[in-house]
Amino acid sequence: MPDIKANLEAIRQRISIAAQKSGRNPEEIKLIAVTKTVPVELIEQAIQAGIVDIGENRVQEAKPKIEALKQKYPNVTWHMLGHLQRNKVRQALDLFAIIQSVDSERLAKEIEHRLRPEGTQILVEVNTSKEATKYGLPPDSVVDFLKKISNFGNINVRGLMTIGPLADDPEAARPSFIRLRKLSEEIRKLDLPNVSIAYLSMGMTDDFEIAISEGSNMVRIGRAIFGERR
Ligand SMILES: *Cc1c(COP(=O)(O)O)cnc(C)c1O
Repeated sequence: MPDIKANLEAIRQRISIAAQKSGRNPEEIKLIAVTKTVPVELIEQAIQAGIVDIGENRVQEAKPKIEALKQKYPNVTWHMLGHLQRNKVRQALDLFAIIQSVDSERLAKEIEHRLRPEGTQILVEVNTSKEATKYGLPPDSVVDFLKKISNFGNINVRGLMTIGPLADDPEAARPSFIRLRKLSEEIRKLDLPNVSIAYLSMGMTDDFEIAISEGSNMVRIGRAIFGERR
């Protein structure tokens, strides 16, 4: 069994050090615990150790877990991180407060049509590593995409999300993270309605310190908290 409390303490320490190294305030960096494949009992341990943001990848897997926990822990924010099919949008919006994986106009339209009184918070997923197997919009098309989405009254774009390239050397992810940061700076200047880039969601177990040094303020961490996935 992983010692979740100790793992979280170690990660928070590493986040602090990485933030301080680049002259940033560690408190501005949100830690998302990624719980795909992790059973409810271990997720509960993470919540009891102070986790308030949790990410899942698949609606089907997440549904029973969220339903088991949300009443007891109403202050937890649930993030959808995985690829979302349009026919799962209704369910996803019932479960998640924020969808981090919006990567097409068709998906955005589907979300737009599922009215929620407070609007739906999304991040735009960007394929910064240009790996064919990855989801996400090509970086060059993000500005045009946002110009269209900014007319959607029910969607609030809160930031950008990317997944670094699969590589042994975490430094290999740096160019991807730089690309996302530059893109976010470009978008802020446009001052589009319904678009406020509060979050740069980048960095996972193997590369979160590099992501922080490039401006990440939302790291998504699974294995370093819960151990290797089987
Ligand atoms: C699995 C996953 C993570 C967490 O990855 P770890 O390597 O376990 O930290 C983060 N983001 C997304 C989108 C994921 O699918």
